[in-house]
Amino acid sequence: MSRISDAPTSRAIPVGPWTHDALRSPQAWSYPLKEEAPVFDETGFNVTGREFLIEWGDRSVPHTAHVPYFSPEHGEGWTASQIRKVDIARWIFGIRGSFSFMAGPNPLIQSERDREMAAAEDAYAKLAEFDWLGLDFELAPEGTTVTGRKGLTRRRLKLMSELREVMAEVLGRKQGEVVPDPRVYATFVSRRIEVGGLRVCEACQIIFATRVNRPASVCRTCRRHPPRYRYFPLVEGGWHTGARLGPPAHRFVNGRAGQPRKAFYTAICSSCERHFESNDARRHLCRNCGGPAGRVRRRRGGSPLGRQLYRFAGEGAAVSVGIRRADGSQGTISSNVHGMIETDDAEIASQLEGNNALRRID
Ligand SMILES: [Zn+2]
Ligand SMILES: [Zn+2]
Repeated sequence: MSRISDAPTSRAIPVGPWTHDALRSPQAWSYPLKEEAPVFDETGFNVTGREFLIEWGDRSVPHTAHVPYFSPEHGEGWTASQIRKVDIARWIFGIRGSFSFMAGPNPLIQSERDREMAAAEDAYAKLAEFDWLGLDFELAPEGTTVTGRKGLTRRRLKLMSELREVMAEVLGRKQGEVVPDPRVYATFVSRRIEVGGLRVCEACQIIFATRVNRPASVCRTCRRHPPRYRYFPLVEGGWHTGARLGPPAHRFVNGRAGQPRKAFYTAICSSCERHFESNDARRHLCRNCGGPAGRVRRRRGGSPLGRQLYRFAGEGAAVSVGIRRADGSQGTISSNVHGMIETDDAEIASQLEGNNALRRID
């Protein structure tokens, strides 16, 4: 006799926010509009005498590609990410590039940042022009001369090869490392601007070398041991809202591929409905509800909040440490007058246990 169960079933889905195949054929494109906000004086009077002004076509902004994506929280859908100039600066110059659109503390640093900002703005403008010329070509009125069309195509091909250089320089220099900004890479690939022989792994986001014809989509390690999320999606009656890969322990050591990265799941506790994170896909109760004390409490119908007190002592007299709260926000927890950190939240206690500056007191 077979047993009938209404327990949710898991599904294995490959790790990664996109695939090369999906990027190369976006489901839709959206075009940025020109928006102008109305101006108010100090009494609140609308000086411009109109609401928002919205016009077709901001030609200084690239288009947005919509790529199919499955979210365990919301189900099937798309992601549509739009990159900014500072994202391109980070792509070219690494973390340093994140500061290129800010004022520098001294003239030397300021001139370096100005140079980086100019390079990012140049690549961004080329991307926008490339996109809009493509639309011009499609929307060209009947009777446009062959020479006119050829001119558009020639300009586009030139922009394409210049943008490919921006991409090739970074991919070549950072081979074996995690891609500096996966959204910039996705933006290029969705326009079919790719570099022969170099790709970013769909699963672990590491830049790897591959053959030029019929390139691989995942790196060698991920091809051998494909990292997968074993989802119990919230939208299908499960408890997962998302997942991420653990720290990149995954490297090529002495030419041999390392281990794939571990998956961590964000879930909603099926007893207290608070968010928690776990590397065990089957876990659907947070540490407050799933521990021995929590089990008794749920039986007796008591408060869903933990009662057990966890106590920690730090190195110095006054200690303050960073924690991640149940709702995903960041915060700090400070020691009391006795120099001890106390919490009755088992999820926070497990974070404190991982902190090398603290030790648990029983
Ligand atoms: Zn990989
Ligand atoms: Zn719970």
